[in-house]
Amino acid sequence: MRYLSTRGGATPQRFTDILLEGLAPDGGLYVPERYPRADLAAWRALSYPRLAAAVLAPFMDDVPGLDALVARTYTRAAFGSEEIVPLKTLEPGLHLLGLSQGPTLAFKDLALQLLGELFEQVLAARGATLNILGATSGDTGSAAEHAMRARRRIAVFMLSPHGRMSAFQAAQMYALRDANIHNLAVRGTFDDCQDLVKLVNADAAFKARWRIGAVNSINWARVAAQVVYYFCGYFRATRSDAERVAFAVPSGNFGNILAGYVAREMGLPVERLILATNENDVLDEYFRTGCYRVRRAARATSSPSMDISKASNFERYAFDLAGRDAARVRALWAELEETGEFRLPPGPGFASGLSTHADRLATIRMVHAKYGVTIDPHTADGVKVGLAHRPPGVPLICMETALPAKFAATIREALGREPARPAGFEDLEKRPQRVEVIDPDAEEVRRAIERYGVAQA
Ligand SMILES: *Cc1c(COP(=O)(O)O)cnc(C)c1O
Repeated sequence: MRYLSTRGGATPQRFTDILLEGLAPDGGLYVPERYPRADLAAWRALSYPRLAAAVLAPFMDDVPGLDALVARTYTRAAFGSEEIVPLKTLEPGLHLLGLSQGPTLAFKDLALQLLGELFEQVLAARGATLNILGATSGDTGSAAEHAMRARRRIAVFMLSPHGRMSAFQAAQMYALRDANIHNLAVRGTFDDCQDLVKLVNADAAFKARWRIGAVNSINWARVAAQVVYYFCGYFRATRSDAERVAFAVPSGNFGNILAGYVAREMGLPVERLILATNENDVLDEYFRTGCYRVRRAARATSSPSMDISKASNFERYAFDLAGRDAARVRALWAELEETGEFRLPPGPGFASGLSTHADRLATIRMVHAKYGVTIDPHTADGVKVGLAHRPPGVPLICMETALPAKFAATIREALGREPARPAGFEDLEKRPQRVEVIDPDAEEVRRAIERYGVAQA
């Protein structure tokens, strides 16, 4: 499989060549040259790791030993059960797909755990090292650190806004004791953290000397890893490959639902992909009006992992909508730079809606009262919008993107009590923490990398 840039300015690359890259050199995103065909009949009975190997094989055809690598990733030890993504039936035709059973209790583990294994293997084959520099407002940073911990060729430098995450989220990162994980709490906002990452990356000599890499949501391997659970959820919720389903997806950067779109392009019978946003409704507005309009800044909400001002993976979908014409994509993004928006009619098979803080609380209460199940605020956004836009007579699968334990304040507000904690997390906030508090100064970040980073072999 070759990968192309959505802006058309990069030579086609193999998977292992784009794995460690972020954006393509022309500023575009890498996309596969075609979508492989699914073999539903052969895939239906497979275990999660075997299904993952089958789905990923055509995308990652230059990774030796992919089957074994995938089997090392999707284990009961890491995800709590052989099912990896358990399907919970609330009532006939209404399901929750449990994507948040991994080490950090959010769906990002499903992609990042695989990325950790892939990075290690590809770096070892090349005799190379990598210093990962990232910024997080919560879920991505902890999932990345847990995926990269104790990997010898990799060090992680994760910037987080000092004092602005929940105690649980902060502890998930700061309580890691691994020598290759470095938490830098920045006296500032998440935007300040992102600006620091950009500043350090803008220093090309420093970036090359220290092999600075990223694990951001535009990495194609993350999207590919997420395609797997759309197939898995479909097989678990249906009896025959003639049935159709709908998925409800709490969305921020358009990474999760893009994977659902790719699964459908591969032949998965998906009647409708239902996109849910919170008050940050860039994507809902797009699917309702055909106008993609980015915002100056995101609003802080009670489903914080969906707080975005633009959707970084959207360009991949737009590339297909534009007939895979890179010149048109370049023109659209030039217009976006200039005016802050562009128009592009959405394709078929999507619906969208918006969920507010009040909707979140009401949905958490409704699901708890009716089904005895506690869902997290992001999942609640998906359930609320999914129920409003489900096609009649088709099973609805709602993606559970985090466990309620991560977002206790909103659960207390909705239900008047603490969410349950999974085993092993009881004393999380009481564990000793390793974090360095720094000023929003790129020099401090560079100093930390020079002191603790892995040097090139
Ligand atoms: C990241 C995240 C989302 C949004 O996913 P995208 O791929 O950015 O659309 C939703 N819910 C939770 C809990 C997340 O961590």
